[in-house]
Amino acid sequence: MRIEISAKRLHSDFVKKVEEISGETLPSCYQCGKCSAGCPMSFAMDLLPNQIIRLVQLGLEEDIANSKTIWFCASCLTCSVRCPRGVDLSRIMEALRLITMRKNIDYVKISAIPGEIIAELPQIALVSSFRKLTA
Ligand code: SF4
Ligand code: SF4
Repeated sequence: MRIEISAKRLHSDFVKKVEEISGETLPSCYQCGKCSAGCPMSFAMDLLPNQIIRLVQLGLEEDIANSKTIWFCASCLTCSVRCPRGVDLSRIMEALRLITMRKNIDYVKISAIPGEIIAELPQIALVSSFRKLTA
């Protein structure tokens, strides 16, 4: 992954918004990785929780948007309990989900899902997915 860092990104509205919504201080994270080591959902994530907070610190919103990690986070608070710096990463994950959903973008095209798939999938999973991934 090629990362472009700039002062503009470090102080972007995106970074400020994540701090505002989560109530967390992003620079507190010093990338020890304890959150990721204990995360029960890390096996399914394409980016680890400590990588997500690093991307937020750097203002790399697009890289976070291209990752599925925030949707795999189960809000179990394990990372928050383990963090030696007192960072509540679950609140940051929730802030990222809120910011994404407020963009009102359809990430799933319901009409493109074949009827036989819809008939087979658990309805609660479909409703939950549509709540998160459609405007
Ligand atoms: S445990 Fe805390 S300080 Fe360590 S990487 Fe995770 S958020 Fe950062
Ligand atoms: S709250 Fe999310 S990121 Fe933190 S340990 Fe649980 S599943 Fe992983």
